[in-house]
Amino acid sequence: MTEFIAIPSIGAFGQQHGKHGGVVTRFAPSPNGYLHIGHAHAAICAHDFARAHGGRFLLRIEDIDGTRSRTEHSRAILDDLNWLGLAWDGEVVYQSPRVPQYAAALQRLRKMGLIYRCACSRSDIAAAIKLRPVLHGPDGPVYPGTCRHGNVADTAPASWRLDMQAALAYVDAPMFWHDLSAGQQAADPAMFGDVILWRKDAPASYHLASVLDDSADGISIVVRGRDLFAYTAVHILLQKLLGLLQPVYWHHSLLIDQNGEKLGKSKGSAALAAMRHTGEDGRSVANDLRQGKLPLGISLTTD
Ligand code: GLU
Repeated sequence: MTEFIAIPSIGAFGQQHGKHGGVVTRFAPSPNGYLHIGHAHAAICAHDFARAHGGRFLLRIEDIDGTRSRTEHSRAILDDLNWLGLAWDGEVVYQSPRVPQYAAALQRLRKMGLIYRCACSRSDIAAAIKLRPVLHGPDGPVYPGTCRHGNVADTAPASWRLDMQAALAYVDAPMFWHDLSAGQQAADPAMFGDVILWRKDAPASYHLASVLDDSADGISIVVRGRDLFAYTAVHILLQKLLGLLQPVYWHHSLLIDQNGEKLGKSKGSAALAAMRHTGEDGRSVANDLRQGKLPLGISLTTD
């Protein structure tokens, strides 16, 4: 039977992953809710890619956001993957003990003069944008730069932002990355403006933490959903600034509901944990997904 989840071939990138010591993928959920069938699809993509290429599949729990992460969700993630029959290699990686490494990288960027403190609240930003229209990036209006040249008091609660123009000038070369589905891509992080690298309310942002983790864990192929495609430009820039090896990417299709929207924890998409508790067989659930047998009302993006 033709498998619905088509695992791309590593092709000409064999040479590249050789540098990293073989194919290593990861599934990197955030434990801020229960996993749903869309996560199962993502985990299967990363797991099956590694297995198809004789590689390693790692599990990384992105629990850095202390306000939203819950231990019961982390525990459920492990149970869900076991139930689906997706065995990971080695120890589970948790982000929370790695904060000192993230802080050290932030310090390096600080010494390079590429980051600045920002004390703006959401409403400060909205007010500044009203006065001076800004570029609209994939994440909405970009930060208007209020604190870029300002002096934010040391005691004020503040985040750290990347000075995008300074960072691009530092790299001073066109940047590219390779996606196994979409091919060679030019990286244009400028469309995101001065992204946050360290948050006011939680340590390192997703961008900084995930780039450092992928490097520390020797991830050679970042397998993740297409919803994260655009962010890759920012990740390539951070890899260049921090002197990290650049992985290859596979941004796989997403499961969507009747309204064409990505499934979501907050939209009440059926939790794997609930299916598990009703005694359903997880390995059959995984095999059905592999073969394109999707639950009623759910389909896969084709772009
Ligand atoms: N933690 C992210 C999420 O739950 C995934 C990040 C990634 O795969 O790079 O969406």
